Amino acid sequence: MQQDELWIGTMLEGRARWVAVRTTDTVEEARKRHGLSPVAAAALGRAMTGTLILASSLKGDESVTLRILGDGPLQGVVSVGNALGEVRGYVREPWVELPLKPNGKLDVATAVGAGELAVSRSLQNGEVYTGMVPLVSGEVAEDLVHYLLSSEQIPSAMLLGVLVEKDYHVAGAGGFLMQPLPGAKDEDIQVLEDVLGQLKVGISELAAESRGIDEMLGHLLGELPYQVLERRSVGFSCTCSKDRLGDSLVSLGREELEDLISDGKAEMICHFCNEHYLFSKEDLEVLRERAER
Ligand SMILES: [Zn+2]
Repeated sequence: MQQDELWIGTMLEGRARWVAVRTTDTVEEARKRHGLSPVAAAALGRAMTGTLILASSLKGDESVTLRILGDGPLQGVVSVGNALGEVRGYVREPWVELPLKPNGKLDVATAVGAGELAVSRSLQNGEVYTGMVPLVSGEVAEDLVHYLLSSEQIPSAMLLGVLVEKDYHVAGAGGFLMQPLPGAKDEDIQVLEDVLGQLKVGISELAAESRGIDEMLGHLLGELPYQVLERRSVGFSCTCSKDRLGDSLVSLGREELEDLISDGKAEMICHFCNEHYLFSKEDLEVLRERAER
């Protein structure tokens, strides 16, 4: 069985870089965990796939957080990824249903709405850099390309796609990024534009139909030679634990904990992965002691 992977490489004799990623299982895991509607799965899936592409240039324990703050019915999309290929995320309203667009595609732009895109990078020295741009379309890929150009001065071409079947399961998801590197010639830009112009099917269909990333690259790049620098596996992964959620209960303070103890138990739900954590009366009493200290 093929697994979700991210490949990084170069082309045009090192004058451009590319990142290709398959996220079919990652997005299906998010869909099942959050009970996402098709358009919510497409929006979050594109965001998580784009996050993995942005995270591909990070090192060590650095991470990137993508926040799509739109006024559409999803009421916001959040995704966090790291250099290990781990990604997690959520939308505020997972059950949003919208009519398909006239071309038969899921209407992600309407679900997202108008607003802003914020990208935060947490670096190894503990510093966090945040760039914010207005959403240009709400289709996610165009918004990320706009962010990379206006906030980081990097021209890019990006494809992000999620294919949702009638039974709601995710049949294919993936992404592709190309960027000219310093030293690229004017004609190189034309070659990169032609690559996307000749594409007959969407990236989500390629992810669904290809047996691996090499086959996806074959469809994307045609006869153009390319070099692979790195391959890594990617997947849905959350950093939550009962200890971490216990810490947030402690931070509520002693009085709040007293109320929960009198209720007899408490349940905490992680936004990012929808995992439910049950705290017994005894658990809460231990936390109350910590809050008192
Ligand atoms: Zn979690």
